[in-house]
Amino acid sequence: MVMKKRDRFEAKRTGKQDDLFPVYVDDFLMTLKYYVDEEESHLWIKDFKICHSCEYKPCLYFCPAGVYSRDSDGTIQIAFQSCVECGCCRVGCPYDNIGWKLPRGGFGVAYKFG
Ligand code: SF4
Ligand code: SF4
Repeated sequence: MVMKKRDRFEAKRTGKQDDLFPVYVDDFLMTLKYYVDEEESHLWIKDFKICHSCEYKPCLYFCPAGVYSRDSDGTIQIAFQSCVECGCCRVGCPYDNIGWKLPRGGFGVAYKFG
């Protein structure tokens, strides 16, 4: 169960933060609605050769939706359908190797409850 913002502020104000419910990103992700554009990805790798020489591959860690993964031969895969359009990968890739644009009109994530 996710605590209302007002209740969180109240818990902080009164010092009763121990009463706060734990908040999990997965719980928030489940409240979203996705309108997936199956014909056109709004995310892409510009140059896969750069990924192969990227030592730490931070894209595997900074994306809150876990969009980036590696297949069996180490190639970066993009599950663009799960993107929450936070924009982190526009600045998180040390080689500026991720192409990013907003999904086409009518597609993308819908924040219905928050
Ligand atoms: S952080 Fe950028 S360059 Fe490195 S693996 Fe991910 S997309 Fe490729
Ligand atoms: S915009 Fe955010 S959610 Fe989408 S792929 Fe980039 S880091 Fe992940």
